[in-house]
Amino acid sequence: MKKNYVFHFALIILTILISNKNYAQNDASLHITQLPINYSKERIDLSIQYLKERHGLIQTKPTINPKMIVLHFTAFGNIKSIHEYFNAATIEENRQINKKVSALNVGSHYLIDRDGTIYQLIPDTLFARHVIGLNYCAIGIENIGSEKEPLTNEQIISNARLVRYLSSKYSIEYLIGHEEYIQFRNTSLWKETDAKYITYKNDPGKIFMQGVRLLVADLGLKSMY
Ligand SMILES: [Zn+2]
Repeated sequence: MKKNYVFHFALIILTILISNKNYAQNDASLHITQLPINYSKERIDLSIQYLKERHGLIQTKPTINPKMIVLHFTAFGNIKSIHEYFNAATIEENRQINKKVSALNVGSHYLIDRDGTIYQLIPDTLFARHVIGLNYCAIGIENIGSEKEPLTNEQIISNARLVRYLSSKYSIEYLIGHEEYIQFRNTSLWKETDAKYITYKNDPGKIFMQGVRLLVADLGLKSMY
């Protein structure tokens, strides 16, 4: 059953590739809608503090040097509600594990709707909290969807286009799904001062990652698999 699904999925991707010969070239038509969150003084201060206390990096500005792109799904909400959720500088009360290590709210650089529309919430080289141990070098892309509401083909295509665009701008070496991040624990990239600070993730899903990876295979981006 699962194999059939993967095969069917591969066919969809191949169809997209064949019908769009210019796919691998420069994507001048890529449209990104700016929808900034409030990167307030409080958020700046909490981000600098996170960089120091969690990643062990002392910086005067909350900037990152992007080496990795991490894909996610939001598990709930829509563009408006997720934008509002990320807009607060401090994390919500009931996220106890996250709140204990830092008061900084979670966030991501990009948010992609189910129809493939791409929104940018945070500039690429500013810090966002979206992946333990790796935030200091990782651009985050969130997608509206969940396990019950699987990500769409339009989202696969938009994620791939955005990854291609970001790879042309920065020295991106890795492309991973959030569910894969723990694999980096024993690498030199991992920077988290508390070895016990781990949360287990299932987003954005293996089928989705296979689809995106197939569309950007020519970029040679690495993962831990
Ligand atoms: Zn995630």
